[in-house]
Amino acid sequence: MANPEEMYQCQTSNCGYIYNPDKGDRKGKIKKGTQFEDLPEDWKCPVCGATRKMFKSLGGPA
Ligand SMILES: [Zn+2]
Repeated sequence: MANPEEMYQCQTSNCGYIYNPDKGDRKGKIKKGTQFEDLPEDWKCPVCGATRKMFKSLGGPA
């Protein structure tokens, strides 16, 4: 299981897609087990096309 701080949610309105490193992103050809930090610079939200900068970790400040 991925920790909440390893899961990232898309912050654009009407999206809410969550990147889970346990699942990866099949559409973006990201293998399972790939951490968000390790995604390619040009990776985009598979739902709305937002860039990585639009994502926030689900784990709040420690
Ligand atoms: Zn999105």
